Amino acid sequence: MAELDISTQEGFVKAIEALKRISDNEVGDFLASRGAKPNCPFCNSMKWGVVNPSREGVTPLALNLPDQIGNLIVGGRSLLVVQIICQQCAFVRSHAAAAIGAWKYDKDQASGKSNDLGDLFGSKT
Ligand SMILES: [Zn+2]
Repeated sequence: MAELDISTQEGFVKAIEALKRISDNEVGDFLASRGAKPNCPFCNSMKWGVVNPSREGVTPLALNLPDQIGNLIVGGRSLLVVQIICQQCAFVRSHAAAAIGAWKYDKDQASGKSNDLGDLFGSKT
């Protein structure tokens, strides 16, 4: 199965769009598929929740990144992340949203689900 190339703008957009179809449980499935340990590194709890869940899948958060000379500009460069929070000790961890979205995109492609981006690009196929 060809993996979605998130280094291209089109691939990145498809990956972020795929997050609208992902469930909290699937975020856990992604982490398990990558060998991430399910227990919290601080309290050992295995209960996690997605930060900022929405009715439409998972909405990524933007971590502001400094520019090339170290200035932090609000609305400037950012890293989109999916954050999950330990339900016991409230430890928050971040995972790159594009990687999770690409996993979801590829999963949907493999199962024959549509990845139509008609609304985004203004033309339904
Ligand atoms: Zn914890």
